[in-house]
Amino acid sequence: MSIRLTVVSAVVVTAAAFSVFGFAYPGRGALARGDQETSHAQTAARGQIDLKRLLSADKHPGDWLTTGRDIGKGHYSPLKQINKDTVGRLGFAWDYDTHTDRGLEATPIVVDGVMYTSGSAGKAYALDAKTGKELWGFDPKNDLRVNRQACCDEVNRGVAVWKGKVYVAAFDGRLFALDAATGAVVWQADTVINKKVGYTSTGAPEVAGKVVVIGNAGAEYDARGYVSAYDLETGKLVWRFFTVPGDPSKPYENPELEVAARTWDPKSRWDMGGGGTVWDAMAYDSELNLFYFGTGNGTFFDQSRRSPAGGDNFFIASILAVNADTGRLVWHYQEVPGDQWDFDAVQPFILTDLKIGGKNRKVLMQASKTGFFYILDRKTGAVLSAEKYVPVTWADHVDLKTGRPVEAEGARNYRNSSNGSNFISPSPMGGHNWNPMSYDPQTGLVYIPAIENAHDALFAGKSYLRAWDPIHSKIVWNIPMSDWWDRPGVLSTAGGLVFQGTGTGHFCVYDAETGEKLKDIDVGTTIIAAPMSYIIDGVQYVAVMAAWGGGGWSFAHPASAAYQRGNEGRIIAFKLDGGATPKPDLLPPIQPIPQPPPLTASAETVRQGTAIFAAHCSGCHVNQPRTGAPDLRRMSPESHDAFHQIVLGGALQSAGMPPWQGVLSPEEVDAIHAYLISISWDAYNKQQAAPKN
Ligand code: CA
Repeated sequence: MSIRLTVVSAVVVTAAAFSVFGFAYPGRGALARGDQETSHAQTAARGQIDLKRLLSADKHPGDWLTTGRDIGKGHYSPLKQINKDTVGRLGFAWDYDTHTDRGLEATPIVVDGVMYTSGSAGKAYALDAKTGKELWGFDPKNDLRVNRQACCDEVNRGVAVWKGKVYVAAFDGRLFALDAATGAVVWQADTVINKKVGYTSTGAPEVAGKVVVIGNAGAEYDARGYVSAYDLETGKLVWRFFTVPGDPSKPYENPELEVAARTWDPKSRWDMGGGGTVWDAMAYDSELNLFYFGTGNGTFFDQSRRSPAGGDNFFIASILAVNADTGRLVWHYQEVPGDQWDFDAVQPFILTDLKIGGKNRKVLMQASKTGFFYILDRKTGAVLSAEKYVPVTWADHVDLKTGRPVEAEGARNYRNSSNGSNFISPSPMGGHNWNPMSYDPQTGLVYIPAIENAHDALFAGKSYLRAWDPIHSKIVWNIPMSDWWDRPGVLSTAGGLVFQGTGTGHFCVYDAETGEKLKDIDVGTTIIAAPMSYIIDGVQYVAVMAAWGGGGWSFAHPASAAYQRGNEGRIIAFKLDGGATPKPDLLPPIQPIPQPPPLTASAETVRQGTAIFAAHCSGCHVNQPRTGAPDLRRMSPESHDAFHQIVLGGALQSAGMPPWQGVLSPEEVDAIHAYLISISWDAYNKQQAAPKN
């Protein structure tokens, strides 16, 4: 592992230095390694997943064909070489350096011996899944002028592989189809309809019949939600479904919006986009030809600012089913009418069949941000069950006749409530977020990375690996995690095991029936993604992507491996009788704050800079050591000199720092700089005054 550099303090701003942060493709010989490929990875047969193969996934359990393995995305493997008796022998097989230091959230796909996955900002990788050797790498070269605003890090939650192509969404909203054999771009489509709006793409594309579908994030800003479906072969737009109405003076883009518009105040803040973005959960049922997706919160969060007269505000915080060929709505279920609490309904879906009330039902399951575990009839959208899997105070229960939540007294006006805002549970982080849960058909349990917390008491919250019985709506076992922020994705297997990493850098295996911990491997890298499993040449592997990031990225907890050992991203694979897992070195001690340049600006300029920094910069730069973005109190003299080139000119774009030209004026950048010099002096003087040991 190489030492992670702190961008601004350690790097002289020259173009040559930037490659240490991003990909250096094609300099790494991305496409030049064909001669080294193994027999497991025959070029001609790369990525050959079709519907027939996907539907017979259980007959070929050695593959992992979608981010959730099969079409139902249960995040469950039928493999059992690694089982309760053998798991004690689990050890390191290989690792692969993703050459990134941002969050890694994807679950890889493995087909015919090749692993395909995505990393920060929509980079993509193809590896020999037996050795971790890179076959090709892809960098979408994001245009960060498109997406300066992103709530939750430059992440990506996976690829789709279909008939020789790998589909991946770039952070700036472009969807790519790559040749699975070479990584070459077959086609690309720009999914962003308005470049002035804070759209990004972070989800995994979903193949649904003849199309590949992708949504966008941005409801924390001013985005209007939609999903776009493209022809798998040509990249031509086939249909687009807007999730919320637009400016009422313009025609409705899809007929469903005429109905939706009746649930909004005509005087809604249409300029703010409305929200309802489709930033994660999608699934496809080939039998019903239905494409399912979840929508995010409304914009603003506060309904009185968004749609002052109230209303349900279709289709925010909802699960929708559309015909995969036409994009026309078949059913919808709104979890949170008139959402007030940032309760996105986008947590991953699992499609399966369950026996409920003596009847076999085709269901869609979701452990929603709302704190309710929903089981919907996926043919009709009827709510079969909605029970609390974490403490929930915003609603008493969900009325199964109407599907509507029965809101608690005062929940909507919680900020004025005598109980205070802490009265609302879950928090905007949700009872569960994007981190995949897993459904084990052997135990009948769903393993949820669950979060218990309240609206403004996030740091007092707690996370658990929670085994949930969806039929009897009860917790069967429960493992406390290190802290509220520690809630990685989950894998269960027919070996009777549940696999989950930790933010503190451990890879743990539990007994699926009892929750007893059977194995704990200290890997020294923070894990937030879900593990997956596959077989090659008779050897079962479990692999996971590892790096801290996502929501809360800018606050690396001191207990996290990222804080102690840095955040070099890697993919780690394990097998029976493997070796010891190499750990990144501990970071060197935090260096003193260097003497800042003289503060020449007026107090008024510093005051202006404080406000501009809070509005545009503080989401990433929290100005503490070893947090996500650099501590700007520690800027080197070179970085101070190059401040305009970095902030306006995009000199550090490859490290994830967007160019702000056209948004911030040079005077505003000077004000930000003055503010930073001011806080640097405060910290420097405090440091110099402290007693020396
Ligand atoms: Ca949200």
